[in-house]
Amino acid sequence: MTRERLYLFDTTLRDGAQTQGVDFSVEDKRQIALALDALGVDYIEGGWPGANPTDTAFFSEKVPLKHARMTAFGMTKRAGRSAANDPGLASLFDAKADAVCLVGKTWDFQVDVALEIPRGENIDGIAESIAAVKAKGREMLFDAEHFFDGYKANPVYALDCLRTAHEAGARWLVLCDTNGGTLPEDVYRIVHAIRTALPEAHLGIHAHNDTEQAVAVSLAAVRGGARQIQGTLNGLGERCGNANLCALIPTLMLKEPYASEFETGISRAQLQTITKTSRLLDEILNRAPHRHAAYVGPSAFAHKGGLHSSAVQKDPRTYEHVTPDSVGNQRRILVSDQAGKSSLLSRLSDAGIDLDARDARLARLLEEVKQREFLGYAYDGAEASFELLARRALGQVPNYFDVESFRVMVERRHNAVGEWVTVSEAVVKIKVGHESFHNVAIGNGPVNALDEALRKDLGKYSAFLQDLRLVDYKVRILTGGNEAVTRVMVESADGKGSRWSTVGVSPNIVDASFEALADSITYKLFRDGVRA
Ligand SMILES: [Zn+2]
Repeated sequence: MTRERLYLFDTTLRDGAQTQGVDFSVEDKRQIALALDALGVDYIEGGWPGANPTDTAFFSEKVPLKHARMTAFGMTKRAGRSAANDPGLASLFDAKADAVCLVGKTWDFQVDVALEIPRGENIDGIAESIAAVKAKGREMLFDAEHFFDGYKANPVYALDCLRTAHEAGARWLVLCDTNGGTLPEDVYRIVHAIRTALPEAHLGIHAHNDTEQAVAVSLAAVRGGARQIQGTLNGLGERCGNANLCALIPTLMLKEPYASEFETGISRAQLQTITKTSRLLDEILNRAPHRHAAYVGPSAFAHKGGLHSSAVQKDPRTYEHVTPDSVGNQRRILVSDQAGKSSLLSRLSDAGIDLDARDARLARLLEEVKQREFLGYAYDGAEASFELLARRALGQVPNYFDVESFRVMVERRHNAVGEWVTVSEAVVKIKVGHESFHNVAIGNGPVNALDEALRKDLGKYSAFLQDLRLVDYKVRILTGGNEAVTRVMVESADGKGSRWSTVGVSPNIVDASFEALADSITYKLFRDGVRA
């Protein structure tokens, strides 16, 4: 049976760039475009040339893509100007792009209220703009803005706009749920109606996630006849985001009936890079990955509790709907109070530690984990500390350095111009072999100062710690027993894109932080194979 081809259109760099707090540089855009190309999407919408300096600069040079078509976004021409004299269209013609996606209005209400032009003039504008782009030899896509709302309000006008775009030469008519409020049943019904009315047209879907159903809406559109899906990595996008390609792509490729009826431009081997691609975007945005994201989240294949984890080890299908490696993710068996020996063994093997179930050290380690969890340590989110704990118990972790003492001072004082400032200074005395180091550093807070001092000079190890950085720091006050203790979780990253988490516990917040920081450095040295 031949499967029908679905085309994937990524708009992370255009619609995704509308996300609050997201500000891509030209270099970020190039890096993400190359990753999307390697993943195997068909179109990459790189931005809106002419709308801002970054996007204009991005489109001034061709990105060396192997498969994907670089697409420039723009608007149909302004009223009262000819297509030849429209500055927006002119920027598109200069852009180094294979395809152009023009957005135009198809909802009569928007034409009346936002454009304030006669409805016929909007239709003429669509036709002229598309013809102008076609004349430049570019593949032409038409984004029908507010299409579903428009079709509900005035189906005749909305369809007229689409028919005009089709006849003017648009290869794709992309139906946009711009406000994100249309539900899957309506989308299916309307896409199906358009397919019947315009059987020759290629239809696409552009869904927003304002009811948390952008993925379901996109699938409904495919069932209705859409063959192009637009979305973003990790569902990036303004308000509640766009349809999440990291959920859509695995669903289309691994789930029935889509897997049997359709094919995408992505191979099974490329699908195994989707978790890495999702994490790369987080890395560029300097965000922690969304733990519970479908398929690609760090917890997507995490199992806690003795019953689940022992069943998963007998046969993963007991608690997993697809295998983690099909999407390049990892199974994680979380060690916790309820976990027995079997989950500890499996967790150890995930960390690359092979231990026999009858090994006496296993029972001792389990006792130690339970004892530490009782004290307030949590290893569910601190795999690096867990691995160090296990490997130390097995005598595998070299003693890289000894901390002889540390001291932190926090001072609030007037500076030279009489303003109040708070300064932290840390002093750390460390021994590396027979060499002693006396490091002093200033920081914006006590933990920052300690971190700086600890890493300021570690002798022969310093070179290995250049690219280490703190990306997240969390404090939790645990109350229980007769005194409160503080648990600190530190997330670190390095230049290779690795991330790891460590934990420290103490009644004193600075002490707990120091323990987590020291574990992070030890883990980095150990994982990079540095010799003591
Ligand atoms: Zn959008």
